[in-house]
Amino acid sequence: MPRAHDVIVAGAGPVGALCAYLLARRGLSVALLEREPARVIDYRASTFHPPTLDLLEDCGATAALLAMGLKAPVMQYRDRRLGKIAEIDFAVLKDDTAHPYRLQCEQFKLTEWLYAELARIPGAGVAFSHEVADVRQDEAGVEVAASTPSGPRLLRGRYAIAADGGRSTVRRQIGIAFDGYTHPEQFLVAGTRHDFHAAMPDICSVNYTADPEEWFLLLEIPDMWRIVVPVAPGIEAEDAVADSYLQSCLQNICPRAEPYPLLVKAIYRVHQRVAATYRAGRVFLAGDAAHVNNPLGGVGLNGGLHDALNLTRRLAAVIEGKSDPRALDGYEAQRRPAAVVAINSMTERNKKLLEERDPEIRRRNLERWRAIGADRNLMYAHALETSMIASLRATGMLPRKQG
Ligand SMILES: Cc1cc2nc3c(=O)[nH]c(=O)nc-3n(C[C@H](O)[C@H](O)[C@H](O)COP(=O)(O)OP(=O)(O)OC[C@H]3O[C@@H](n4cnc5c(N)ncnc54)[C@H](O)[C@@H]3O)c2cc1C
Repeated sequence: MPRAHDVIVAGAGPVGALCAYLLARRGLSVALLEREPARVIDYRASTFHPPTLDLLEDCGATAALLAMGLKAPVMQYRDRRLGKIAEIDFAVLKDDTAHPYRLQCEQFKLTEWLYAELARIPGAGVAFSHEVADVRQDEAGVEVAASTPSGPRLLRGRYAIAADGGRSTVRRQIGIAFDGYTHPEQFLVAGTRHDFHAAMPDICSVNYTADPEEWFLLLEIPDMWRIVVPVAPGIEAEDAVADSYLQSCLQNICPRAEPYPLLVKAIYRVHQRVAATYRAGRVFLAGDAAHVNNPLGGVGLNGGLHDALNLTRRLAAVIEGKSDPRALDGYEAQRRPAAVVAINSMTERNKKLLEERDPEIRRRNLERWRAIGADRNLMYAHALETSMIASLRATGMLPRKQG
């Protein structure tokens, strides 16, 4: 009979690793199974929002992120032809968060930190090269089958968390629908050390630039700038990551005499989907396994980390006998509406704003941005929403503000 764990986590991305760490540091027995043979460096999330930093403070992750990241106290909305339209100053949130800024740091750095912390906890750690293939459950617990280089392995636990990403094997395997759609264009990411502050002196570290032909994001992280642009549906991924295509995108954004030095390039297929339910008996979905969205707003991973915080608090209390198992129902009740209402709809709206082609709607959009940039009350409401504070309050994960 295999040894029983309290929780088995499928997928050691940032969400699965955070789930495992939060449970293991409370003394629970956790198996964290990762398909890949070693840590994965990818070029997706780079923005951590203020309430995420607030919520991660207790476990030490915020201090680690602050040490590894770059504070972005303002963000800009721009137009490719007109330049800066509005600047959002996160200082408006100073009474709502201990961290009134965005923290720019790659997601793999958080994951690496979590792996290192897990390695310090006796009995915890990442089981690499463990691809979860099958999950079964009965009233007493779950059984997870993983394929490993040394053959199949069967693990038994009380609960399982599927944090195995947007293509989640576990979600498919337990038959949870993942309705929504796939964006026709792919998203191209490039990284360069070109000094954009010198070349475009009025930019800040987080810039969203609208354009009817080709919108773009310009994001500063500690050691480089990241550029995100859409790739038209007719262009093949391998052509889009070719140097000539990347160079022309960058030259289009900010012309320079020499080619751009490129450090990073990646292309992503992006979807808007939310799982029909976050729970099937003893198995819970979290992170991209539960919800996927475009990166315009930088909320997907932040939302996944909020899932991890919420779910592990509930699971730990039930496993430790401090809470009735019915408390587990509150996970979906609290987190799924946040994904539907805030994460999914906000990112859809952001994409429409950036790519709008109709001149009259574009004019109105830019007017709206100007108004937000010019009026402290509008800016405050906007910052509450885009930082995710508003949705975390509305769904009860953060206390409502008094007064
Ligand atoms: C271009 C881009 C930019 C983004 N920027 C931001 C941002 O700034 N802020 C933000 O909040 N979000 C952002 N996101 C979204 C963010 O990257 C994801 O939400 C985040 O990676 C989700 O983390 P996760 O741990 O749930 O899933 P993943 O990071 O996908 O990790 C899943 C893990 O599970 C493993 N796995 C898969 N299948 C199995 C299996 N069968 N068995 C075992 N292991 C398995 C995988 O190898 C992987 O390690 C961005 C996304 C893109 C595409």
